[in-house]
Amino acid sequence: MPPIDLRSDTVTRPTPAMRQFIAIAPVGDDVIDVDPTCDRLEKLTAELLGKEAAVFMPSGSMTNQVAVRIHCKPGDEFICESGCHIYNYEQGAFAQLSGLVARTVEGKFGVLHVDQVRGLIRPDNEHLLRTRLICLENTHNRGAGKIQPYENMVAICEWAHKNSLRTHLDGARLFNAVAATNIDANTWSQRFDTVSVCFSKGLGAPVGSALAGTKEAMKEARRHRKLFGGGMRQVGIIAAGALYALENNRGRLLEDHANAQILAEAIRQTDGLTLTPDVVDTNIVIFRVEEALGTAAEFAAELKEQNVLCFAIGPAQVRLVTHLDVSQAQCTAASEIIQSTAAAMAKGKRKAKLVEAAY
Ligand SMILES: *Cc1c(COP(=O)(O)O)cnc(C)c1O
Repeated sequence: MPPIDLRSDTVTRPTPAMRQFIAIAPVGDDVIDVDPTCDRLEKLTAELLGKEAAVFMPSGSMTNQVAVRIHCKPGDEFICESGCHIYNYEQGAFAQLSGLVARTVEGKFGVLHVDQVRGLIRPDNEHLLRTRLICLENTHNRGAGKIQPYENMVAICEWAHKNSLRTHLDGARLFNAVAATNIDANTWSQRFDTVSVCFSKGLGAPVGSALAGTKEAMKEARRHRKLFGGGMRQVGIIAAGALYALENNRGRLLEDHANAQILAEAIRQTDGLTLTPDVVDTNIVIFRVEEALGTAAEFAAELKEQNVLCFAIGPAQVRLVTHLDVSQAQCTAASEIIQSTAAAMAKGKRKAKLVEAAY
């Protein structure tokens, strides 16, 4: 039996229909002039996000790093939430590639309030960095797929623009927020100068992300994409997978959210496990493993023995992510395995060899 893979929504494989679409996609040299499939994808992305233009890139990390680069110059500073992807999971590329400093502010499951950022803009003084940008993340990965409260986000963007800061949204999972609310992608994006979205997360494409913004900003983005090694030639071959995903897989994200609720409910009912936060908004479930049971890495190793894959993301924290390659039946089966594993570990029973913590 194939494992029930809840490690990430990036593990999805292309379906036969997506492969067929990729196989027949028209292509061109997108660095010399244009690749028609990539062009279609960029236009559709821009339209959905209500922006003038979009640029396709190989990864979400690149879209974020190009975004911070076009908003900031070396020696500038940007504000972000301390658990965000840009700060934690991109090797500090903003420092390595662009000479930038990040000022982190701790949110509540990834959510910042405007009162926390007021007063953080440094005055114009030659001793000081220049504060240029604020980045938000929606949905928030480390915040267990938390949807940013809309009004709150608007308040932060209004404050930022009033104070001449730029705004960037890491919307790797923006379409999860769209599916879960009655707020469309255009409305979510409106207040941001740039927005990045991933096609290879819940949408199920093999590769790719895009950055959207004004025509002028996207012209700059194309330059920096090339600088960072992301100029791609017959890119329609991979853009086709992303286009197929964007056209066909947005609506079904709600199935992933419903499946996450099955897992969440099972965890709520299990002694020794605590959902953090208790409410699951979208497709990411994070829970704490009580010390009496063992570490998160041990818990994940026990689950693996029973064909359920997940990641320990901290000493006591386990993350589960639902996606289009796990069915409702598999999530129900995984829930039962999680409950029986917790019960067995509470009694000191282990099947897996002791593992080194890795997160
Ligand atoms: C996955 C992810 C990204 C981009 O990751 P890549 O692996 O570089 O595509 C960016 N932001 C968030 C919040 C993510 O979850």
